[in-house]
Amino acid sequence: MRIAIGGILHETSTFVQTTTTMSDFQHATGIARGAEMVERFRGTNVCSGGFIDRLEQEDGVEIVPLLRASAFPGGLIDAVDYKEIKTDLLERLAEAERVGGPVDGVLLDLHGAMVVEGIEDADGDMTASVRDAIGPDRPIVVTYDLHGNHTSLRVKSATAVVGFDTFPHVDMSERGREAVEIMLATVRGEISPVGAICQLPLFWATRKQVTAQPPMVDVIRRVHEIERRPGIVCVTIATGFAWSDVPDVGASVIVVSDGDEQLAQATADEFGSWVWDNRQTWFSAPVSVRDGLDAGHENGEFPIMLADHCDNTGGGSPGDSTEVLRTFLELELEDALILYMVDPEAARTAHGAGVGQTITVSLGGKSDPIQGPPVDCAAEVIAVTDGEFAYDGPMFAGLTGTMGLSAWLKVQGVNVVVVTAREQPFDMAFCRTLGIDCSAMKYICLKSAAHFRAAFESLGGSIHNIDAAGIHTHRFEKLVFEKRAREMFPVEIVPVTS
Ligand SMILES: [Zn+2]
Repeated sequence: MRIAIGGILHETSTFVQTTTTMSDFQHATGIARGAEMVERFRGTNVCSGGFIDRLEQEDGVEIVPLLRASAFPGGLIDAVDYKEIKTDLLERLAEAERVGGPVDGVLLDLHGAMVVEGIEDADGDMTASVRDAIGPDRPIVVTYDLHGNHTSLRVKSATAVVGFDTFPHVDMSERGREAVEIMLATVRGEISPVGAICQLPLFWATRKQVTAQPPMVDVIRRVHEIERRPGIVCVTIATGFAWSDVPDVGASVIVVSDGDEQLAQATADEFGSWVWDNRQTWFSAPVSVRDGLDAGHENGEFPIMLADHCDNTGGGSPGDSTEVLRTFLELELEDALILYMVDPEAARTAHGAGVGQTITVSLGGKSDPIQGPPVDCAAEVIAVTDGEFAYDGPMFAGLTGTMGLSAWLKVQGVNVVVVTAREQPFDMAFCRTLGIDCSAMKYICLKSAAHFRAAFESLGGSIHNIDAAGIHTHRFEKLVFEKRAREMFPVEIVPVTS
């Protein structure tokens, strides 16, 4: 049996002004072609890692690695660059078939919120292109992030779809393995998967999506309950990605059944209705920075961690919003830490001055007025680094990262980690390279929605998602959509507020 693996992954925010280009794909884990894909992702916690690990356990299976390309979340993908990567993947598939005969199926590692200039449903385009290449009969099984804006095209073009069950996303390899199980059973003729989608006009509050906690824990429990029903192969819940202005933005449910399209549709509709009927449960009123701190003090345990999710670099945000830093300074907090402040200019200034020097800087607030004005201050340079490090937290252990030119600055009692690359604080490994002990901090601001939890929850304390000013505001009514096709909750369809 020959199984091809590949994928192009991107979470695209159409609200940021920058374009995602080839050079963004060539960064970090970037583009891996052919055998390089297997070498780079074997044993790692991404879906392709799960594909490789599970396929390598199976006797008589040949892995046909095509290409895996990923760029850090950001703006619209350049159309020419997308086409070049897609063509590369498809040509590798054609070449593999020409040399070694037909593949028996294709496993795709996609994100689900990829948008290309002129292609609103790029994940659908990708899946449909592979379908065109291999024809209607051979299986395509696709893995997706929890945050996809799913469409009929991508469900119809694939044989089966497998979405993440966790946020923070710690089950990526596991879902990759699940996709392989579905692929193997399909190729052997044991099952005949068919999928159906139920789209929901719903923006899901990020602070209500943490899968280990209520209320999201109930949603995932329901996913698993439905998966145990006879005739059901796989159930996917997607909470959507609000910062892609596309017609199909929003949450959805996808159900894959064994050969019974009606059952798949009825089950997707049933689960979708339950989600919709409980929409108020997935809603959350905004919380200010000071309210988040107050809630932390009330809780009384430290560190108080503020998730600055409106400037979540992991969602494509610039990472230089300043409201939290400004508030920390106004409140004269001690042992406070900002992770991170994306500001290449300040990082260069710190490197130029050197460790131990005090510099005058304008911190952050340079990308967009929505991110708040820069904070003008005197800062002591405590440490500098070129930004190379290896992740050691639960999400990306084994993968390397780079923050680019970076520095640890101290402004009064506030420690600011100034970085060049827009990377989310997934774990504490990068801080350690600068000599920062996160466990010694009383206040930590993380430009992340939830992924930091996988590592930072071990510090104890309390976590509060706050709504500081930022491009990725969770006040969905403030997002100006042009392409969104439906009225949605909680914008036009208003929530009940007490
Ligand atoms: Zn996600």
